[in-house]
Amino acid sequence: PAPKPANFLRGIIERDLEQGTYQGRHWNGAPGDAAFQKQGPLDPAKIRTRFPPEPNGYLHVGHAKSICLNFGLARDYGGICHLRFDDTNPEKEEQEYVDGIKDAVHWLGYGWDANGKSHLYQASDYFDFMYRAAEYLIEAGLAYVDEQSPEEMRVNRGDFSKPGVDSPYRSRSIEENLRRFRDMRDGKLADGAAVLRAKIDMASPNINLRDPALYRIKHAEHHNTGDRWCIYPMYTFAHPIEDALENITHSLCTLEFEDQRPFYDWLLDRLSEGGLINTPHPRQYEFARLNLTYVVTSKRKLKALVDQHHVSGWDDPRMPTIVGLRRRGYTPESLQLFAERIGVSKADSWIDYSILEGALRDDLDPKAARAMAVLDPVKMVVTNWDELMGAGHLEPCSAPVHPHDPARGRREFMFGRELWVERTDYEETPPKGFFRLFPGNKVRMKYGYVIECVGATKDANGVVTEIQAKLVPDTKSGTPGADAVKVKGNITWVGVADGVKAEVRLYDRLFSVPQPGAGDKDFVEELNPDSLKVVTAYVEPSLAKAHGDEKFQFERHGYFVADRKDHDAGGRKPVFNRVTGLKDSWGA
Ligand code: ATP
Ligand code: MG
Ligand code: MG
Repeated sequence: PAPKPANFLRGIIERDLEQGTYQGRHWNGAPGDAAFQKQGPLDPAKIRTRFPPEPNGYLHVGHAKSICLNFGLARDYGGICHLRFDDTNPEKEEQEYVDGIKDAVHWLGYGWDANGKSHLYQASDYFDFMYRAAEYLIEAGLAYVDEQSPEEMRVNRGDFSKPGVDSPYRSRSIEENLRRFRDMRDGKLADGAAVLRAKIDMASPNINLRDPALYRIKHAEHHNTGDRWCIYPMYTFAHPIEDALENITHSLCTLEFEDQRPFYDWLLDRLSEGGLINTPHPRQYEFARLNLTYVVTSKRKLKALVDQHHVSGWDDPRMPTIVGLRRRGYTPESLQLFAERIGVSKADSWIDYSILEGALRDDLDPKAARAMAVLDPVKMVVTNWDELMGAGHLEPCSAPVHPHDPARGRREFMFGRELWVERTDYEETPPKGFFRLFPGNKVRMKYGYVIECVGATKDANGVVTEIQAKLVPDTKSGTPGADAVKVKGNITWVGVADGVKAEVRLYDRLFSVPQPGAGDKDFVEELNPDSLKVVTAYVEPSLAKAHGDEKFQFERHGYFVADRKDHDAGGRKPVFNRVTGLKDSWGA
């Protein structure tokens, strides 16, 4: 394979592989444990990464970056990537999201089949170990049960300007801490009545080291462990343990977690001193999250759009979710290409939406079959057709399925007396530089004949209801002498006789500003009111056979996909979504 562009994470991995950082390592996890068995043959020479979503929503394009990064690095260096559900928060998590996330990762081209590409893990499988680790910290004098109110805890934590104040519970005896922690576990305390905290340093300049919470009480049912637990580990405590138990080598996360790294290392150091895990530990490395203009990349905000019915669902084609992008017509390859192009860095920035669309165009251009479609149809009548060709005659025409690949064959359609053309292709009085349909002008009907526009009929409001034209004989494309008549305009069309009526959904950017919610307004107020326009179009007959999810380039118009949900492949109700135009129209 071609060498991939280097980045700082590749540099770290290549250094670790060269220096044998993880050679001779003793693996973590209990060998009899099912969660450990899943890890398969343990080869210390291989890197392990993980993608750890919380199953509290559908994944978005930012997650796609992280998936391509983690699974891509594992693939490129002969390692393994775990898909791990970070399901430590019982209330917001649902099976629907678990299934949606698995689908999304699979669809993006990554797998975890039993024979070893990667495996599926869930943090809740480690609750027993996490509980043991918490008791160990208490026994080592490194954790205590704090029964201050949440408000007292907040105030006493201090801030950047001042050190924190020790909790009165900080000096409890080990025995008392153990007893109270077990009371927490046994359901004797109400939600919020106490938390288990690490005993580190209330004066640390890093607020994350001012005795962070490890466990909290939540009398809530968990989608995996049911009602077995009423205390749940905090993310910051759970995550390093999950990484260690899965023998992850490089734990990649977004920059917000940089300040958590000292605690990540503190916890794993303490647990290995206590013999609970082995060294060398996994290491955390941070990269900049993806911010994409004209959309929001936060599950919480995307969920709000769904819940408030601003979109039709998580898979609305305007959504930057993976299911939404897929329905819009994005391909796995285009998202992989996008991830590769934006790369990874340590600096936060905004990526222009046009980069995403550019990756899609580059992926679809060589693949998508071409087709003609008239999106804003008006009828054109060839008034001398019957006289020249015979009444009712239909003349077969054809065009390549793909202009650069003759092997893909030709599409066929009929030229006749009546054709659909674009309303915008006609002007009674042509502006300067307009070479399309106006009275007295000759144009080529693409893949068909040259015609001369004669005029048009209008209704009482001045709206054109029919265009009239005359056929210029002996000009059929592909026949000898067809080019004798020189024309400047090339018009796309669909025959009235064999054209297929279709619903076409013209999607535009979801938000009308590049950074929704960045200013004074709530992001919802910045939704683009014109992000969807539905039109009735006519498409060439080859499209009647399109199957859901099939992509096309509609000549002149851009890329379109047969809607995976609503398109009827039998041709009874064709529905196409506009994926993107032919050229970048986003601007800066
Ligand atoms: P959100 O705020 O949208 O819910 P999250 O970070 O809370 O995102 P998780 O399910 O916890 O969502 O994320 C799983 C992984 O995806 C994490 O490792 C996280 O760093 C990564 N990730 C999430 N958002 C982005 C993004 N915008 N760019 C790159 N990686 C991201
Ligand atoms: Mg999260
Ligand atoms: Mg988040």
